[in-house]
Amino acid sequence: MAENDTAGRLPYRIDRIGIIGLGLIGGSLARALRLRAGAAVVGLDRDISTITRALADGILTAGAQLPLLHDAEAPLSDEAKKSFSLLSDCDLVIICTPVEFIPMYVDLAARFSSGLITDVASVKQPVMQKVACERFIGGHPMAGSERQGYNYSSESLFENAIYVLCLQENSNLPVSKVKALEELITRTGAAPMHMKAREHDRAVAAVSHLPHVAASALSVMAARLDDGNLARLAAGGFRDITRIASSDPDLWAGICRQSGVELAELLEKTINLLQEFHQSLVDDDIDSMRRFFFQGAKYRDGLPVDGRGALISPSSLTVYLNDQPGELGRVAALLGEEGINIRNIRIREYRAYEGGCLQLLLPDSAQTVKAAWILREAGYACD
Ligand code: NAP
Repeated sequence: MAENDTAGRLPYRIDRIGIIGLGLIGGSLARALRLRAGAAVVGLDRDISTITRALADGILTAGAQLPLLHDAEAPLSDEAKKSFSLLSDCDLVIICTPVEFIPMYVDLAARFSSGLITDVASVKQPVMQKVACERFIGGHPMAGSERQGYNYSSESLFENAIYVLCLQENSNLPVSKVKALEELITRTGAAPMHMKAREHDRAVAAVSHLPHVAASALSVMAARLDDGNLARLAAGGFRDITRIASSDPDLWAGICRQSGVELAELLEKTINLLQEFHQSLVDDDIDSMRRFFFQGAKYRDGLPVDGRGALISPSSLTVYLNDQPGELGRVAALLGEEGINIRNIRIREYRAYEGGCLQLLLPDSAQTVKAAWILREAGYACD
C-alpha cells in the first residue's frame, strides 16, 4: 500500500479497500473495485462460505468472518479483533450491510482503520444523523436488483449508474480525499453526484420507495381479487409493471421504515391524487381523466433515456417476429454484434399478433433504445 498523506496536501490514494457485508451490493462493489479499478479488496461477512467463494473467485485478497455484534461499544473478543484488524491498512472501508447496522460498523471500522469510510445505504438521513466519524462520506449507488446476496453480484452492476455522495454538514474532509472517492467510483462505471442527505431521501422516496410500495399494492390487490383466472391474464404487462414487488420483504420493510417521514408524506400525496382520479371517475369527468394521463405521459416521455436512475431495472423491449425459421437467432445475432447483452428472453404467451412476440430484457434503458434502433433498421417492429 502507498503511504497516504493524512493532512490531505497530496492526492489521496485508494489502493486497498475493506468491504463489510458481501451481499449483492458489497459483492458487486468488490468485483468492480478488484476487476475494474485494480484495487486490493479485503472482505468481512457473517457467512464464512461467502468469504471462501469470494477468495476463490479472486475478488478478495483476504477475508474473515464478521463477528455477530449488537453494539459497537461492547468489548470485542480476540477473534473479532483479529477479523477487524484486516481493515487496519485500508484506505477506504465500505459498509454494505442493511441500513440499521451501518452506524455500528462505521464506529467499528473507524477504530481499526484510519482511512475513509463510506456506506451504500438507500436512505441517507438516518445514517448521517447517527454517524459521528469525520472520515465518513455517505454513499448510495443507484443500482441494484430484486435479488439478494453475493451469488447475484456483478462487476457491471454500477455501469452508468448515478452514485450519490453525501458529505457531512460542516465536513472538514480534504478535497483530495473526496476526489479520490469520486475517481474510484468512476472506475466502477458509475457517475458520482453530490446531494444533501435530505434532498437525496426525498428524491429516492419518490422514485424508488413509493414505486416499490405501489408495485406491491397492485400485486396484493390482484392476489385479493384472484378467483383462479386473474394470474393467467396478469402474465404480460402486469407482470412487468409489478416486477419490483418481487424484492426481498425484509430489506424493503427496513428501507421503508428508514424512509419513514418522506415516504409517509408522499403516500399521503399519492392517496390524494388517486382520490382526485376516483372523483373524476365518479363525476364522469373525461377532461380531468385525460389531463391526469396527459400529465403522466408528458413527464414520463421527458425522462432521460441514458444512464440509470434510482429505480434500477433491466429495460424491456418487445419485438414482433415473422413466423419463419431462424428469426430468434437473427435478433440475438444483430444485438450481439453491437455488444448488447440480452439478460433474458420471454416469449409472450398472450399475443394479438400472428407471428411471435418476444420480450427482451436488456441491462438498461440506453441499451434498449440502441437495440430498438438496430432492430427497426433491420425491419422488425418493436416497442
Ligand atoms: P444483501 O444482498 O442481502 O446483502 C446484505 C449484506 O449484509 C450481506 O452480506 C449480509 O450478510 C449482511 N448482513 C445482513 N445483516 C447483517 C448484520 N446484522 N450484521 C452484519 N452483516 C449483515 O442486500 P443488498 O441489496 O446488498 O443491500 C445492502 C445495502 O445496500 C443496504 O444498506 C441497502 O440499502 C443498500 N442498497 C441496496 C440496493 C438494492 O437494490 N438491493 C441498491 C442500493 C443500495 P449475510 O449474507 O450473512 O446475510
